[in-house]
Amino acid sequence: MSTLILGSGIAGISAAYHLKKQGRPSVILEKDNDWGGLCSSFCLNGFRFDRFVHFSFAPDGDTQQLFCPAAGMYEHAPACSNYYHGTWLKHPAQNNLFPLSAAEKFKIIAGFVCRPRLAPEKISDYATWLRAQYGRYFAEHFPFVYTRKYWGLPAQDLETKWVGVRMNTPSLKQVLQGALKEPTKNFYYTSVMRYPKKGGFRAILNKCREGLTIACNKEVIAIEPANKTVTCKDGTQTSYTRLISTLPLPEIVNMLPNVPPDVRQAAGQLRWTCGYQISLGFNRPDVAKHLWFYIYDEDIPPARIYSPNLKSPDNVPPGCSSLQAEVFFDCRTPIPPAQEVLAKTLTKLQAIGLFTDKDIVVQDIRFEKYANITFVPDIYKNRQIVRDYLAAQGIESIGRFGRWEYFWTHQAFSDGKTVI
Ligand SMILES: Cc1cc2nc3c(=O)[nH]c(=O)nc-3n(C[C@H](O)[C@H](O)[C@H](O)COP(=O)(O)OP(=O)(O)OC[C@H]3O[C@@H](n4cnc5c(N)ncnc54)[C@H](O)[C@@H]3O)c2cc1C
Repeated sequence: MSTLILGSGIAGISAAYHLKKQGRPSVILEKDNDWGGLCSSFCLNGFRFDRFVHFSFAPDGDTQQLFCPAAGMYEHAPACSNYYHGTWLKHPAQNNLFPLSAAEKFKIIAGFVCRPRLAPEKISDYATWLRAQYGRYFAEHFPFVYTRKYWGLPAQDLETKWVGVRMNTPSLKQVLQGALKEPTKNFYYTSVMRYPKKGGFRAILNKCREGLTIACNKEVIAIEPANKTVTCKDGTQTSYTRLISTLPLPEIVNMLPNVPPDVRQAAGQLRWTCGYQISLGFNRPDVAKHLWFYIYDEDIPPARIYSPNLKSPDNVPPGCSSLQAEVFFDCRTPIPPAQEVLAKTLTKLQAIGLFTDKDIVVQDIRFEKYANITFVPDIYKNRQIVRDYLAAQGIESIGRFGRWEYFWTHQAFSDGKTVI
C-alpha cells in the first residue's frame, strides 16, 4: 500500500519529487511506454521532436535552477513570425504591418481607430474582446482565423478570462510606427524562452525524476475508491493509501463506479482541443528560418510551426534542420485521417516555398488526444463539479488536465508541489 500517482507528466513527476524530498515514497503509473507526458519527446532517424512546441518560461530562479540539466539551457529571445496570405510579418502582426499593401494597412488602422470602446464587464465572449482590442478588420482577418485553427471553435464560442497576458494590446502609436517602417520590437508574453542544450525539452525534468519509481505501460482503466484500488488495462490491480491523479477530468470520470448524473453531465460538457504533430526532418541545414511562426491562412492546416533544430542543434543530425507543425481540432469535431492532413500540409508548405520533396528525410504524423483545455463559458462551473466529486472520493486531481487549467509547464510543476 502506498501513494499512487497517475500520470508521469510534469505534474505527476513534481508530486513524486516533492513527496520524495520529504521522505515519502510514491509509485507513478503511466500509460505510455516512457515518462514525461506532454514534456516528453521522440526520436526518428537521429531527429528529436518534442510533443508540440515547448519552451520553459519558469519565472523564479529556484525552478530555473532545478529545470537546468547538466548540459545547461539555451535562452532564446521570442523571435517568432506570422505568415499571412503570402506575406511574412514580424510578431505581433498588428505592430508590424509594414509589408502589407497600403489598402490593407488602411483597413486595419481605420478599424483600430474606430474599434468599439467597451467596458470590460460588457465583454463576455472572445469575439467581442478581439474586436474591442484590435478593431474589426484585424480581428476578423487575424485572430478570428487563428482561433478557429488553434481552438477549433469560432471566437464567439469562447469566454475571455483565460486571455490574461497571453495577448498583446498595441497602442495607436505602435500600430502606426509598425505600418510606416520596419521593424518594431517583438512583443511576446515572456522575454526569455529556455530550452535544454541537450536531450530535448524533457531534460528539464532530469533532476526531479532521479530516484522516482515510474511504472510505464500501465494504463489505468478503473478506480475503486471504496476499497482503494486501481486497475490497469493489463489486468493488474494496485492498492493505495493516497491517490493523486493527473488524468484528464473527462477520462477519470469514466473510470469510477456510480458517478452521479450531474457529475457525468458536467464532465461531458468540458471541451478541449486535440491535435496532430507533423514532424519533418530535412537533409539541409537551412529550412527553418524562424524559431516558430503562426499561419493565418485557413486553407493551410497548421496553426503554428516551430523548429526543433533552432531550439537546439542537438535535436538534429549535423547539417540538417527540422520543423514540427501543429494542427488542432475541437474534441467534438470529426478528425480527418492522419495521412490526409499530412499530405495537405506538405503540399501547402511546399507551395509557401519552405522546402521541396527532395529535402525531406523524415516525416511523421501522430495524434495527441489532449492538447489544450478550451474556455467555453461554462468551464468554471463544470470543472468545479467534477473536481469536488473527485475530492469527495479521496482523489487529489492536479496538473493541466486534472485541474482543467491552462497551465504552462512551470505552473503544472508548482501544482504538483501542492500535494505536500
Ligand atoms: C500545443 C502545446 C504547446 C505547449 N507549449 C508549452 C510551452 O512552450 N511552455 C510551457 O511551459 N508549457 C507548454 N505547454 C503546456 C504543457 O505541456 C503542460 O502544462 C504540461 O506538460 C502539463 O503537464 P501535466 O503533467 O499536467 O499533464 P500531461 O503531460 O498530459 O501528463 C499526464 C500524464 O498522464 C498520463 N495518462 C493519461 N491517461 C492515463 C491513464 N489512463 N493511465 C495512466 N496514465 C495516463 C499521460 O500519458 C501523461 O503522461 C504546451 C501544451 C500544448 C498542448
